[in-house]
Amino acid sequence: MPLLVMKFGGTSVGDLDRIANAAAKVKREVERGYDVIVIVSAMSGKTNELVGWVEKTSPLYDAREYDAVVSSGENITAGLMALRLQEMDVPARSWQGWQVPINTTSAHGSARFLSIPRANIDQKFAEGMKVAVVAGFQGLSPEGRITTLGRGGSDTTAVAFAAAFEAERCDIYTDVDGIYTTDPRVSSKARKLDKIAFEEMLELASLGAKVLQTRSVELAMRYNVRLRVLSSFEDTDETSGTLVCAEEEIMESKAVSGIAFSREEAKITLFTIEDRPGIATAIFGPLAEAGVNVDMIVQNISEKDYDEHHAGAVTDMTFSCPINQVARAEKALEDAKAAGKIRYDELIIDTDVAKVSVVGIGMRSHAGVAAKMFNALAAENINIKVITTSEIKISVLIDRKYMELAVQALHDAFGLDKA
Ligand code: ADP
Ligand code: ASP
Ligand code: MG
Repeated sequence: MPLLVMKFGGTSVGDLDRIANAAAKVKREVERGYDVIVIVSAMSGKTNELVGWVEKTSPLYDAREYDAVVSSGENITAGLMALRLQEMDVPARSWQGWQVPINTTSAHGSARFLSIPRANIDQKFAEGMKVAVVAGFQGLSPEGRITTLGRGGSDTTAVAFAAAFEAERCDIYTDVDGIYTTDPRVSSKARKLDKIAFEEMLELASLGAKVLQTRSVELAMRYNVRLRVLSSFEDTDETSGTLVCAEEEIMESKAVSGIAFSREEAKITLFTIEDRPGIATAIFGPLAEAGVNVDMIVQNISEKDYDEHHAGAVTDMTFSCPINQVARAEKALEDAKAAGKIRYDELIIDTDVAKVSVVGIGMRSHAGVAAKMFNALAAENINIKVITTSEIKISVLIDRKYMELAVQALHDAFGLDKA
């Protein structure tokens, strides 16, 4: 029997009517002859509420109990979805992660899959069950504790099941009708793409586009899962939405295919550090140990400084990290300074920045993308604080108040509104 994975995000299961709407979509696929594995998120807002309860109860919480609490939203929707399908005469049952079992590492809050044994679910399909409804976002650690996969993790559950069960396709149903050139909530000129390459989606996701969790794209790429994003609120068929696929399947290759942004950035500068071999590792070693995800880095050109503190050449180092890791970063640097491992005159923290990135596999063959990007930002009088590039992306850090303006200006400059 051919098998499909259908994932419904939070808004798509936000209330009982929406669960019924999603169930009707599932039933349609069963009638077309598919066995279906449905992956559900928690009702929209539920996970945030649960996270809030945990943080209020215990600010420095035990990550195992955090996972026990925040995974529970998905349990409710899995059960309700199975009940709704049964009411529609579709043989269905629900599974929580531990019942499958979805085996993961014990990295609570950001666990990774180890294995998804098929036997349990396969046996039920063999007995006539048509739909397995699985709670997304959660798993089971080797120690027998409940884990979660990081925010947005149900996308990754869906792709992992599609790979494990060799599904014909993995359909991600959400509140937009596909993947756009940028977030349609930020630019009204955003254009829906028919196809996007795995590499591009991977970059867009990791640079802030929340439409798919980064890990889900990584897994889809590794296991060659046909991954599609489409609307749960519109009538859909095999041609709807956006297909995430191998580069070879895509004809057009503009220099830039999409723009991503992230509001949750902070910039930290260490002023007047020694410029000597080993200084970068002395700074970034303690940050890594403290679990700070350093992103962009710039080191200034060294200058000679003859003040009483610094005998040799000095420079400044700037880096960016997620805004919610600033306190941890600050403490790690201050501790390293107190222990005599690094020296700096001043630590300047800027929490009013955002990162805007242009992404495209076409960059490999088009010259002048950076110049065009900087030109478009200059025309809007937007100052660039940090720049990083890779083969298929260019990112800049700018004042957060200009973020929307920057996205729109770049969208225009690269002609993304036109096919
Ligand atoms: P779900 O709850 O279904 O998982 P998410 O909120 O996680 O949905 O992801 C869908 C949202 O992603 C959209 O509502 C949209 O605002 C946002 N988004 C960001 N970038 C893009 C993009 N390039 N294309 C489409 N949606 C995007
Ligand atoms: N409910 C989880 C979250 O809000 C997982 C998901 O929806 O993908 O992050
Ligand atoms: Mg999501």
